[in-house]
Amino acid sequence: MTDSRAQHQKRMVRKKAVVDAAIAHATQDKGLLLVLTGNGKGKSSSAFGMVARTLGYGYKAGVAQFLKSRRDTGEERFLGDQPGVQWHVLGDGFTWDTQNREADVSSAQRGWVVAQQMLRDASLHLVVLDELTYLLNYGYLDAQQVCADLASRPGNQHVVITGRAAPQCLLDMADTVSEIQDIKHAFRAGMRAQPGIDL
Ligand code: ATP
Ligand code: MG
Repeated sequence: MTDSRAQHQKRMVRKKAVVDAAIAHATQDKGLLLVLTGNGKGKSSSAFGMVARTLGYGYKAGVAQFLKSRRDTGEERFLGDQPGVQWHVLGDGFTWDTQNREADVSSAQRGWVVAQQMLRDASLHLVVLDELTYLLNYGYLDAQQVCADLASRPGNQHVVITGRAAPQCLLDMADTVSEIQDIKHAFRAGMRAQPGIDL
């Protein structure tokens, strides 16, 4: 049954009081660590949405894409060209392409050096470490080192980490964690990756 107008208004007044109290309570600022994980679609694209927001305020952002073969993507075409963005594609495909663990490890570690530079650069308001979780799960990077580098970044720098199966140490460190659930994906119905949607 739908609410009467009076009931609806009463509920909205109560809701507003709760929301206002929560907003009044949240008064702090700091660089946040966000982890976007889970099997559903929407992790990297959410991170790139935050890059767009960051640029909208005139701040700078840095992006490191791990675990990508050199595929042309819409995000790189657009955001990679924006002033105020540094865009690094790190790693040459990894595991299933290279099938060479030593090469993967050294590629991951070279990539992490670039990430470390961004994590020391206080001019970057936001750093995105896209698909980082795989490098930790495969043991290509030392999780303790990664967590130490994250912990010692500039105090006002936000970091977004994406990838499936984020390790517990990252979840523990993070300020915000979202696990995106896979309910349905067009790929399983035979749809190829669509420009603008998937890449
Ligand atoms: P997106 O970049 O679209 O936000 P994502 O970062 O959440 O996706 P990834 O695991 O990085 O997901 O996968 C990247 C690509 O794989 C995208 O083209 C995405 O549409 C596709 N993909 C993501 N999740 C699934 C899934 N559950 N089944 C099939 N394909 C998927
Ligand atoms: Mg992704």
